[in-house]
Amino acid sequence: MLRWRIPLLFGLLLILSGCGAASRPELCSTEFFAMDTVMSVRAYTTDDAVLSELPALVGALENELSVTKEGSAVYTLNHNGHAAMTDDAALLLSRALALCGETGGALDISVYPVVRAWGFTSADGSYRVPDADELAALLQTVDHTRVVCEDGTAYLPEGMEIDLGAVAKGYAGDKVAAYLRERGVTSALLDLGGNIQTVGTKPDGADWRVAVQDPNGDRLLGVLAVSDQAVITSGGYERYFTDEEGTLWWHIMDPRSGYPAQNGLISVTVVGDEGLYCDALSTALFVMGTGDAVAFWRTHRDFDMLLVTEDGKLLLTSALAERFSPSEELPYALEVIDDA
Ligand code: ADP
Ligand code: MG
Repeated sequence: MLRWRIPLLFGLLLILSGCGAASRPELCSTEFFAMDTVMSVRAYTTDDAVLSELPALVGALENELSVTKEGSAVYTLNHNGHAAMTDDAALLLSRALALCGETGGALDISVYPVVRAWGFTSADGSYRVPDADELAALLQTVDHTRVVCEDGTAYLPEGMEIDLGAVAKGYAGDKVAAYLRERGVTSALLDLGGNIQTVGTKPDGADWRVAVQDPNGDRLLGVLAVSDQAVITSGGYERYFTDEEGTLWWHIMDPRSGYPAQNGLISVTVVGDEGLYCDALSTALFVMGTGDAVAFWRTHRDFDMLLVTEDGKLLLTSALAERFSPSEELPYALEVIDDA
């Protein structure tokens, strides 16, 4: 019986994820699992083969960037202290290091041993609160300025390990969007585990409407109207555990302290042209906290953001205020960040 069910199920999945070749662009969709998350892509295209190549494209990227897959460039670097980088790994590593510097170390790809000590890297959820001595010892090896990437080879000092998890999905979004554009797609919406990337507008020229989750509940904060941009959120609510005393700890670390970042923010949504940049910033601004995040935006202004604070505020940059439709009866005080 089971023998028949498997091909049947597989056939159904193919139907669900496919669409026929057509003379006018039709909505095609696919869903696959990669980078530890479900990815779904909806695109308007005349060529149904376009989407079928995406799992392999993202899978290849994952095989280069994964911190746990034996043989990946990052895995080899962590285990040998040096490794030849693939083109994507070298590019992403160099960009990530530059962003670690620009964010004053709020983003630090060498925080990985700390993340692991808290149990956030294990699939079985064996979370724990490391003691202060253990964290102090691990922090000795946290310093992105000591990672070297030159002529396609990367080097780490003794004891250091890196993880590109805070930026990899954003980068994957950029790659998928670029691939779709190359294949002539002018209208697509990608959801890579909650990281949203849009290609063009909806076919009728209207903006894509992207839902933003309320970090304090199952409802939506609201909907953002965007086109040709990424919308990426980092929040404490995504991965967390509660210890025996009832304290909640989440997966975004403050590289200065070795503890999960608790600087007044519960979620940060970044909107911008590049997924990689938005992904890096959503993590970094979450670590910085409200004051530094606003100061960072004021000096850069090449992205927009929506911050949800612990004390019940929803802060938006002015350009987003026009593009954000808040849900009704939100329990937050909405404030537009002063442009000055
Ligand atoms: P997610 O991957 O859950 O969407 P993020 O993009 O914010 O969320 O990335 C968080 C991941 O990045 C963590 O699971 C951890 O592996 C790693 N990380 C945590 N804190 C930092 C940090 N300060 N700098 C760089 N990487 C971090
Ligand atoms: Mg991120």
